[in-house]
Amino acid sequence: MYDVAIVGAGPAGATFARLLSEKYSAVIIDGSEALCPKPCGGLLAPDAQKQLARFGLSLPKDVLVSPQIFCVKTIDTEAKIVRHYQRSYINMNRQKFDRWLLSLVPNRVKTVNGTAMEVSREDGIFKIKVDTPNGSDVLYAKNLVGADGAGSLVRKTFFKNISIRSYVAVQQWFKEKHDDPFYSCVFDRQSGDCCSWSVSKDDYFIFGGAYEKDGSRKRFETAKKDISDMGFVFSEAVKIEACLVNRPRSLKELCVGVDNVYLIGEAAGFISPSSLEGISFALISGEMLAQSFNSGDNPGKRYKKLTKKIYLKILGKILKCPFMYNPLLRKAVMRSGIRSIKVINK
Ligand SMILES: Cc1cc2nc3c(=O)[nH]c(=O)nc-3n(C[C@H](O)[C@H](O)[C@H](O)COP(=O)(O)OP(=O)(O)OC[C@H]3O[C@@H](n4cnc5c(N)ncnc54)[C@H](O)[C@@H]3O)c2cc1C
Repeated sequence: MYDVAIVGAGPAGATFARLLSEKYSAVIIDGSEALCPKPCGGLLAPDAQKQLARFGLSLPKDVLVSPQIFCVKTIDTEAKIVRHYQRSYINMNRQKFDRWLLSLVPNRVKTVNGTAMEVSREDGIFKIKVDTPNGSDVLYAKNLVGADGAGSLVRKTFFKNISIRSYVAVQQWFKEKHDDPFYSCVFDRQSGDCCSWSVSKDDYFIFGGAYEKDGSRKRFETAKKDISDMGFVFSEAVKIEACLVNRPRSLKELCVGVDNVYLIGEAAGFISPSSLEGISFALISGEMLAQSFNSGDNPGKRYKKLTKKIYLKILGKILKCPFMYNPLLRKAVMRSGIRSIKVINK
């Protein structure tokens, strides 16, 4: 019997587990060693960098990849406009980043390499059925934390009625053949109402996007086709990966939990609907829940209060969406050249 069971050891779960006071016995369960690594652009945004700075953490060198690029080539395929916008992301290996965060969790928190298959509550005690490489196991806890990302089992089990808009993110890896690697963000109405992107990582070029679930693979191919004459080199394909990504439409879709079940990170819906940047929200909400537990009674009430800041931030991102995703507004913004930089071609 643990005081706290955490399902998911991504940035949210690992941060919560690292900061949770020693007065609680805790277990963290993650299946990613058994499943394949989580698809991600692996760009650490300034808000996430600020959060690491607040934690007093500096990123180990081996988490970084090459190249580090300082602008994003933004393309509207319909309006045929290309603009460059300055961005200060850190380009990293996402799997190594997650492993590094997990390595900072103190030994007093038990780590279980397994997948939670079922979570339930009986007489106020949570029961978690876990599949591990050595067989099935059952864990019991007084509190349950869902840090299990976009497709959260904890959220689906306990908060069925609060649904959140989600997309299928598809990413394909190619051998890198660009002479001058770049990041891109592509708005292509033919492929859907969200966006596609590309990043270069060491010897690979990754093209991906978030698409409506209906025909997501076909939409991905359409996006690729629509930019084929815009400087993208799709060479030898190495692998393709896909997963769910949440994109809240309104604050009503967010859910922090209640009655000893708590949600942090993307499981709570904490992700930017404009850029799909989610690592900073995962780090911040993990910290907020730990603070709420550590400060004593009624962590739920305190967590709800602290996360108001996140709600406000996400509201700002929701309000920003029309300027990025409404074709007319986007065209006007891109045409105006506001905040864009002029890249001098060699
Ligand atoms: C394709 C793509 C690209 C993205 N690019 C970026 C980017 O460049 N920068 C950025 O900031 N954000 C990006 N995001 C968003 C970001 O990845 C997430 O918002 C962030 O990882 C959320 O962190 P988290 O800890 O809440 O959840 P996750 O990182 O999703 O971690 C959840 C963990 O829970 C585990 N898990 C899930 N279910 C179970 C279960 N039943 N049992 C046990 N373990 C379980 C998973 O294995 C995983 O390790 C991207 C998302 C996608 C899909």
